[in-house]
Amino acid sequence: MDEKFDCIIVGAGVAGLAAAMTLAKNNMKFLLIEKGEFPGSKNVSGGVLWGNDLNKLVPNYWEEDDSGWDRFINHRRLTFMDEQSSFSVDFKSSHFNEPPYTGVVVLRSKFDKWLAGKVEEAIAESDFAMDSFVAPNILVEEVLEEDGKVVGIRTGEDKFYADSVILAEGVNNLLTRQVGLQDKYVPADHMLTGVKEIIRFDQDVLENRFQLNGKSGMSNEFVGHATNGVEGGGFLYTNKDTVSIGLVLGLKDLREKEQTPYDILNHFKKHPAVADMIRGGEVVEYSAHVVSSGDKRVMPEKLYKAGLMVCGEAANLLMNAGKAIQGMDYAMRSGILAAEAITKAKEKGDFGESAMKAYQDTLEDSYVMKDINNFQDAVHLLHDPFMIDKMPNLLCDFGRNFFSIKNEPTKKARNMFSDSVKKHASYWDLVKIGAKGAKAL
Ligand SMILES: Cc1cc2nc3c(=O)[nH]c(=O)nc-3n(C[C@H](O)[C@H](O)[C@H](O)COP(=O)(O)OP(=O)(O)OC[C@H]3O[C@@H](n4cnc5c(N)ncnc54)[C@H](O)[C@@H]3O)c2cc1C
Repeated sequence: MDEKFDCIIVGAGVAGLAAAMTLAKNNMKFLLIEKGEFPGSKNVSGGVLWGNDLNKLVPNYWEEDDSGWDRFINHRRLTFMDEQSSFSVDFKSSHFNEPPYTGVVVLRSKFDKWLAGKVEEAIAESDFAMDSFVAPNILVEEVLEEDGKVVGIRTGEDKFYADSVILAEGVNNLLTRQVGLQDKYVPADHMLTGVKEIIRFDQDVLENRFQLNGKSGMSNEFVGHATNGVEGGGFLYTNKDTVSIGLVLGLKDLREKEQTPYDILNHFKKHPAVADMIRGGEVVEYSAHVVSSGDKRVMPEKLYKAGLMVCGEAANLLMNAGKAIQGMDYAMRSGILAAEAITKAKEKGDFGESAMKAYQDTLEDSYVMKDINNFQDAVHLLHDPFMIDKMPNLLCDFGRNFFSIKNEPTKKARNMFSDSVKKHASYWDLVKIGAKGAKAL
């Protein structure tokens, strides 16, 4: 391996694998390095891969026998919780039954491994079948620079050289910091921690309980009492014969409220609405991982320098505005765009700063940055204490009254709503949150 590569990719998560697949298809010579034992072994995700970019990488992936994903989403639910009740917005549609799907549930250790296998297949069909590599179990310790240009990487005593490097190292972006692109110090206070359990069921039990048909699946997001007063939210996704259940929690709030993620997860699992869904299941896996907040203020302003680009969550590309956590799709699209910029750079024989800038330009033009920019207010709204506490209490209180039938004269719904507002907030609170919501959404 002493020859120079067109590109070295650091990290075989979704971003790195998407970049690798695109480079292989574009007949480029590359090295994809992953510190884990195999791609996916270090990765945690809730996880629904939203949108359709997977189809760009592996056309008609749904036709494959074992294509790394567990279920397609045709049933979505957003639940507001108080201590005992839950009030949900629930949407199910057979429009979502046909591929390309709106989202597929993935378990990362299986999905990333499968996608890495597809990358190996694409390498085998390229001109560099013997010269491009997916190399697991290697930690990249340093990015090498010469005369202001990135020229390769160092792992232990070994150095590997390339015209370009893609950093797809995920949220713990040590190399991005090392090359000076994470210009702002990101205090832990701006990050969240994700905790997740995988709970196994008999497949028939799971399918009956969640009304799943064939490969259909459900995603459920939770706001309110799920997090026991700590900033964040919960999720539950149905896999083939397991559910992924977890929380994302603000690190600062956890510290200030002296709570631990594990205790809050246990608290969430005991809520009547959740306990009934997971009853009889067996916990088979527990994992935790830092996750970006989706706050654009912590994103590196520049995602490139001569010979280098930063993709995926290493660039803090993530959004959670309540409707869904979008991180994998952003990672995938950014990996594709970086690889396309490198392909063009090779055609022109120029891997300088302006060639790498083309990546950020196309990213800005893509749905990734358009959504991150457009929905910043929604990200902040989700973290507003009103949404964590007063709103779920108010909605559940209203729901309890509205759905109670007592053989007594029934109040009009507007009066019930007014009572709940008075009990849990004020009309002024509602006006303020309404104005924020109108601006955000
Ligand atoms: C609890 C939880 C739930 C989530 N739910 C969802 C969801 O439902 N939908 C969604 O879209 N997103 C979700 N996300 C976010 C999503 O997981 C990330 O945004 C996504 O994984 C980012 O992909 P990536 O490729 O940028 O980074 P990663 O997937 O983190 O991959 C980075 C890779 O780089 C490797 N690496 C790092 N440093 C080095 C090094 N120095 N040398 C070699 N290898 C290195 C790592 O081992 C890893 O394999 C969730 C996250 C969490 C924590």
